[in-house]
Amino acid sequence: MAANLKCAVIGGGIAGASAAYALTKRGVNVELFEQFDLLHDHGSSHGPTRLFRLAYFEHPDYVPLLRMCISQWRALEKEAGEKLFHQIGIFMIGAPKGNLIAGVRRAASDYGIEIEDLSRKDAAKRYPLFSQPEGYDAIFEPEAGFIRADRTLNHFFARFTHLGGVARPRVKITDWEPRAEGVDLIFRDGRERFDRLVIAPGAWGNDLLKLDVAIKPMRKTLFWMASGENQYFLENDFPPFAIDRDDGRFFYGFPAIDGDGVKLGEHTGGADLENAFDPAPPPADETAGVKDFLREFMPGAPREFSQEKPCLYEMSPDGHFVIDTHPADKRVCFAAGLSGHGFKFAPVIGGALADLAISGETNALFDFLGVGRFE
Ligand SMILES: Cc1cc2nc3c(=O)[nH]c(=O)nc-3n(C[C@H](O)[C@H](O)[C@H](O)COP(=O)(O)OP(=O)(O)OC[C@H]3O[C@@H](n4cnc5c(N)ncnc54)[C@H](O)[C@@H]3O)c2cc1C
Repeated sequence: MAANLKCAVIGGGIAGASAAYALTKRGVNVELFEQFDLLHDHGSSHGPTRLFRLAYFEHPDYVPLLRMCISQWRALEKEAGEKLFHQIGIFMIGAPKGNLIAGVRRAASDYGIEIEDLSRKDAAKRYPLFSQPEGYDAIFEPEAGFIRADRTLNHFFARFTHLGGVARPRVKITDWEPRAEGVDLIFRDGRERFDRLVIAPGAWGNDLLKLDVAIKPMRKTLFWMASGENQYFLENDFPPFAIDRDDGRFFYGFPAIDGDGVKLGEHTGGADLENAFDPAPPPADETAGVKDFLREFMPGAPREFSQEKPCLYEMSPDGHFVIDTHPADKRVCFAAGLSGHGFKFAPVIGGALADLAISGETNALFDFLGVGRFE
């Protein structure tokens, strides 16, 4: 049955690309529509790296999905023939009762995930480039790590087109309409009919999704430390890190790779946008906040940046993904509101969207992320 289906995917970010890949692998005829060029840098999915964490502080129900992801990242990596998932652990510092440390401990205990509680002395010995202020705890999570984001997106597009999928960049979809014989995609100058539709619009979601759930675009800035010494390199075991300050500001970063310095950013904060095209400037305290963080937690690190680049979060009302079939028509499904933490889930999101598009159902444990929770 899947082989006779014609499916449109709107969105060439990681959610749309992984769905297009998964659908094509199952024999569906797929066309992927992207309003910009493929691999553009205006949305949420560009850049070299994303964190992968298993002891999920955001909500423990993500953990079974993440376990599924680990094996799928490995399979993808094998297929791609290059490193996509550096499972080298993550070093975390936070207030014991803060979201990060308390949430990681809860998820680890609920799901039997290995974490190492590090004494101040051990943390200082193992990670001497970090400073752990009085009153903070440190944890190392060995099954965590980071994903090569741009390599993954490249791989999805390469495989998808190799298997016969068609990418249609620089085509903006303005609307869609269910019909008895299919779902019409509407362009500025025409329409085309498909059997199924997957909508993965990132921060551009509200008009296209037509849901009673507002997806809020937010702009963040990423900073690359001026290269600094080689002790920050991946090869020298500098770890990915996440730091939850006791004032609620949350920072994260990656080892230096590919000749660039350490990449870091703030998960909290950011600029609320009217829409994803809004050129609103970054908040005045953004750069100062990152420098302040470095001063406190990585006092020896360079506080000059070689690059600063924007990236969009697409926030759902509760910060959790919204992945489901569309209330208006079961032949339409969507992934929205990935809320700044969706990349690591790419293989299971793509697989679940393919299930939903083909049969209207998935057993990939996505119930807690359904749109029904907002009713
Ligand atoms: C700074 C930053 C750091 C992050 N860190 C992490 C991390 O460490 N770990 C993690 O797991 N996740 C992380 N994320 C989140 C993750 O990257 C996102 O959740 C994910 O990339 C969202 O992908 P998407 O496909 O939903 O959206 P996007 O990548 O924005 O893709 C949506 C696409 O749809 C296209 N589109 C929209 N409307 C239309 C239309 N009408 N017609 C045609 N095309 C259209 C857009 O142009 C866009 O290309 C981070 C995100 C950012 C910005």
